[in-house]
This record gives sequence, C-alpha cells and structure tokens, in this order.
Amino acid sequence: MGRKLLLEHINVPGINTFDVYRSKGGYASVEKALKTLTPDEVVEEVKKSGLRGRGGAGFPTGMKWSFLAKPEGVARYLVCNADESEPGTFKDRYLMTHIPHLLIEGMIVASYALGAKTSYIYVRGEMMPQIRILEKAIAEAKAKGFLGTNILGTGYDLELYVQPGGGAYICGEETALLESLEGKRGNPRIKPPFPAIAGLYGCPTVVNNVESIAAVVPIVNEGGEEYAKVGIGRSTGTKLISAGGNLKRPGVYEIELGVPVEEFIYGDEYCQGIANGKRLKAVVAGGSSVPILPANLILKTINNESRLMSYESLADGGFATGTMMGSGGFIAYDEDQCIVRNTWNFARFYHHESCGQCSPCREGTGWMEKVLHRLEYGHGKMIDMDLLVDVSKKIEGNTICPLGDAAAWPVASAIRHFRNEFEWHVTNAHEVTTRNYGLAHY
Ligand code: NAD
Ligand code: SF4
Repeated sequence: MGRKLLLEHINVPGINTFDVYRSKGGYASVEKALKTLTPDEVVEEVKKSGLRGRGGAGFPTGMKWSFLAKPEGVARYLVCNADESEPGTFKDRYLMTHIPHLLIEGMIVASYALGAKTSYIYVRGEMMPQIRILEKAIAEAKAKGFLGTNILGTGYDLELYVQPGGGAYICGEETALLESLEGKRGNPRIKPPFPAIAGLYGCPTVVNNVESIAAVVPIVNEGGEEYAKVGIGRSTGTKLISAGGNLKRPGVYEIELGVPVEEFIYGDEYCQGIANGKRLKAVVAGGSSVPILPANLILKTINNESRLMSYESLADGGFATGTMMGSGGFIAYDEDQCIVRNTWNFARFYHHESCGQCSPCREGTGWMEKVLHRLEYGHGKMIDMDLLVDVSKKIEGNTICPLGDAAAWPVASAIRHFRNEFEWHVTNAHEVTTRNYGLAHY
C-alpha cells in the first residue's frame, strides 16, 4: 500500500469541516511555519523536498519560489491555479471538494513563505460547488484565527480570496489567468518576464497548482528531506492521478511516484485493468496536452524497461515535451476505440479554446480539426497524414503559450504510432461513413 501524504484522511466523515480536519492534525503546518520557521526556511524545506509543479509542467516549486523578486515596498502575490480544465483531469476538483482545508492550509504556509499578504484561489468558473466549498472553508479558518490579521498572534496578516474563472481553458495558462484575475480578457502574455518578476498587477507573483500548494503541508510537517525520500529519483513525493477512459476502476488515486505503469493499470490497488475484459490499445498519460502512446510503449520504454509513473520515465515520447506526466489525467483506450476520432476530438477542443492571438495556433488548430474531420467522416486523402504532420510542425514552438504545442503533439503522435489506422480510414471510406452515420458531428 503506497503512502498517502494528501488523501490519508479523505474518507473521514466531516473532513471537509474545520473541526474534523483540525482533529486529524490539520493546520499543524501553519503553526509550525509561522511560529518556528522564517519564510526563507520554509522555502528551503520546499527546495529540499524536490517537489515539482503538479499542474503539468513539473517545474521545481522551490526554485520557482526562490525566483520571486522582492523589491522594497512592492506587494507580492500567491495565486493558486485551480482552473483545472485539461481533458481527463479532475484531481484538483476532487481535492477541493473533499478536503478543502488542505488547500487553505497550504495557501497560508506558502503565502507566509513568499511574503504575500493577499492571495487568490482562481477556480474554474464551471466549478460553482467547489467555489462555495472553498468560501465556506475560508470563513471557518478565518473565524478560528488562521486567516485575517495577526494570525495565531504571530503578527502575520493574510487575506485569501476565491475568484471564479473566466470559463475558458486558456484562463488556466498562468499569464492568461493573471489577465483574467485583473478583470481583462484571458489572453496569455509573452514570457519573459515570468510572473515571478512581473505578475498580478505587474507585481512579483507565484502561480502554483492546487496539488502543489497542498503538498507544502506534508513537506513542512515532515521536513523536505523526509518528503524527498518518497518517490523515485527526481520524481519525489506522491502524485494525484485522475484515471479515466476504459478502465475497470476509474477515479482519483494518490500514488507514490515510481509505481510501474503496468501496476497502475492492472493492479488491485489501482485501476484493476481494462473494463469488459477488453485489451488496452493506447494511453494518454497526462491530459490531452501530451503525446498518445500505444499499449506496448506505455508499458515498456524503448529500452524494454518497465515504464514508471514518474516525470523521467514518462519522458521519452520522442516529442519536444519535458514529460508526459503532465497534469496527471491518465486516459486509457481499449481495443475498440478509434484513434482518428479521438484525435479529431482533441483537435476540435484546441481549435475551440485557442485565444486566437498567434496565427500558427489560431489557423493551424482550425486546419487540423478540418482535416481530421474529413478523415473521420470518410472524405480523407492519403496525403492528409503528411499534411497534418506538416501543420503540427508549423505550430510547435512557434506560439506565445503552450496551447499550440499541446494541440500539435497529440496529432503528430497519433499519426506516428497509428498511421495504419489513419490510412484505413482513407481506404475504407465507405465503411467509415456508414459507421459514423448517426453519430453527432459536434
Ligand atoms: P512552463 O514550463 O512555461 O512554466 C512552468 C512554471 O515555471 C511557470 O510557472 C513559469 O512561470 C515558471 N518558470 C519557468 N521558467 C522560469 C524562469 N526562468 N523564471 C521564473 N519562473 C519560471 O509551463 P506552464 O505554461 O506553466 O504549463 C504548461 C503545462 O500546463 C503543460 O505541460 C500542460 O500539461 C499543463 N496544463 C495543465 C492544465 C490543467 O488543467 N492542470 C491545463 C492546461 C495545461
Ligand atoms: Fe492564444 Fe494559441 Fe497563441 Fe496560446 S498559442 S496565445 S492559445 S493563439
């Protein structure tokens, strides 16, 4: 049984209330940090823990915190990115729904470490229940003296606000999120400058994912070095994985990083295999923004080693992505799933969500969607696969924000690994058309 650092008490009745959460040791990290550690010492613990950003990029959290500029007399902000919108990803929503005080506790400790006196949790606009849950939890924490002025008599002041998101996937990109938080249209900014230098209202800002902030709690409680003992190599700690698709037991799992992918898919503790006795065909391991891999390549690396659920082991997809761990949205496809249809589905998502600022993304996502649509509906041509790869290459690396890359990789990887299936859609156009007759276009 793997260690649970975040979800240990998730099944305790009433854990969403302050009193029950506190009775299970909740808010101990606030007492420890504010009463016994300096802000720099908290940053040091996070650095020692090796924690990497849990939103998708896997950037070292302690390093990001240490980049925060600290000009005299200028406000600093902590913004929690709770705009979880990545297809197949629902772990942050789960955490906020069931154990909201873990996030509030992490926000207090992280804000203290960064010297923020005002912090925000930017929650995806569609998640109204979670917004209400968090507002209630904040009110409870404030009533008990853990938020507001002079927290626990330490002289530290913090106001924490929940901000409903703008209702677009792109508002989860950190600079678009900041624009939206400032009341503007959620268009990504060009980086650099990074938010650590010029973020919210032009002030130094750290933007961290929900799970990253929650992980600060066990890091401070147990110490960074202890936290780093969990996991494998540079993939330290535990990770929440939202598992979906054709799995026998989909859901949110807290895994110790380093669990073999095969064990995660087939193990009794986790997903228990593919539903309805089918065979695994492919997996998208980290939300739709990472390459799709066929079953043989997700279970074993190209060196025939067992592939692990870790940032490193999920990194050799052959694409310019840092890691396929991504947001932890693990989507499994059984043998009956159509890769062309799935790829078209992803492409129309990205086309719809593109903010339109840069031409390669705005136009390229549209072209990919159109070409994939004609393939899926029996009007494709043999040159379409090369055309798609060409368009994906023209998008990749040529855009302001990572949405362009995210749109390009699933298409390019699907063609690389499943070209036969694309070709079949051309040579069997009549069957494809018949099969899709009656299926919704949109
Ligand atoms: P990124 O690699 O550009 O940045 C990672 C973080 O490190 C950012 O906060 C950035 O500001 C910071 N950073 C990097 N270099 C820095 C420097 N030199 N100085 C200061 N700070 C620096 O990636 P990103 O745009 O934050 O995230 C992209 C990822 O988001 C994708 O891989 C995708 O998987 C994921 N994603 C997740 C969701 C979700 O719902 N969870 C949705 C969309 C995308
Ligand atoms: Fe907008 Fe796409 Fe450019 Fe990102 S890559 S800024 S979503 S047009």
